[in-house]
Amino acid sequence: MSRLVDHFGRVHTALRISVTDRCNIRCAYCASSREMDFLPQGEILSFEEIVRFGCVAAGLGIRKVRLTGGEPLLRKDLPRLVEMLAATPGIEELAMTTNGILLARYASALRAAGLQRLNVSLDTVSTDKFEELTRRDELPQVLEGIAAARRAGFDQIKLNAVAIRGLTENEIVPLAKFAREHDLQLRFIEFMPVHCDDLWSRQRVVSSAEILRILSQSVGSLEPVSPSTAGSPAEEYRFLDGGGRIGLVPSVSRPFCGDCHRLRLTADGKLRNCLFSTRQWDVRALLRAGGTDEQLLHLLRSAVDAKKKARGTDDGQFAPADRPMYQIGG
Ligand code: SAM
Repeated sequence: MSRLVDHFGRVHTALRISVTDRCNIRCAYCASSREMDFLPQGEILSFEEIVRFGCVAAGLGIRKVRLTGGEPLLRKDLPRLVEMLAATPGIEELAMTTNGILLARYASALRAAGLQRLNVSLDTVSTDKFEELTRRDELPQVLEGIAAARRAGFDQIKLNAVAIRGLTENEIVPLAKFAREHDLQLRFIEFMPVHCDDLWSRQRVVSSAEILRILSQSVGSLEPVSPSTAGSPAEEYRFLDGGGRIGLVPSVSRPFCGDCHRLRLTADGKLRNCLFSTRQWDVRALLRAGGTDEQLLHLLRSAVDAKKKARGTDDGQFAPADRPMYQIGG
């Protein structure tokens, strides 16, 4: 069966699946300060629906699946979904992005179910800053979650951080020191314009180049690792003294759309070909109307065919994503 190749020759092998739009923290740059608009249960795809779609996608060459949300660990029985996806022919890599608060409870079950890789989102290791940023007082739970995940057998846990001017830029150095001390890989993702309380502006983006400068000056000299890990959008650096690695994801200053091989399925079953896509394809409607595999294949191909050259637009400019990150799936 042919693969999911778009008009620019990009072969799609990765699918990011959001399993819930709910979250247990309220990050100032992601969750709105107003009342959040969560989906009713009936609008969320069931595990069976997710796996049916995953199976069809795997038939077209999707090999990597990443579970996200909202906070994926809020989804009841998540290890069961992991087990179902791990057993899906064609899916070779199964990963999850989490805020880590519930990891201590679920790490072993997830590992046993077949989850291979974990990214933990963490923007600060200061208790006060964590509370200010997330509006919750749960940094110790995240740290315990990371430790538990290690004990459960997850190696190469990645920490994902967003440095935002005036909000988290002072966390860059302490985070890097923490990651070095605990042998964790740290990645900084540039702050992207996603619909949320109009917080985003270009001035607030702390660029990858700036982060590299800050780390080199205040933590230790870094050198590029080449080539970066295949398929990863991060530019990787290692400390010259051997004390760990840093990944920089220049999503705003040097977008990597040319290498994009990713599709996204939202918790309510909408397929998007880009975070910044202005169109979505309704997988849920098709599944619930008794759609055939052939129709699902057609829908996947339509989404890939319609993929723009860059940033979901024709001209490469950012049109801010039309749904908040927690609704699309980060
Ligand atoms: N709850 C999970 C977590 O915390 O990892 C998964 C969802 S969360 C939306 C996924 C990631 O998106 C987090 O690392 C968060 O920092 C990141 N994120 C949210 N809004 C962002 C933005 N505007 N720019 C860059 N990253 C963003």
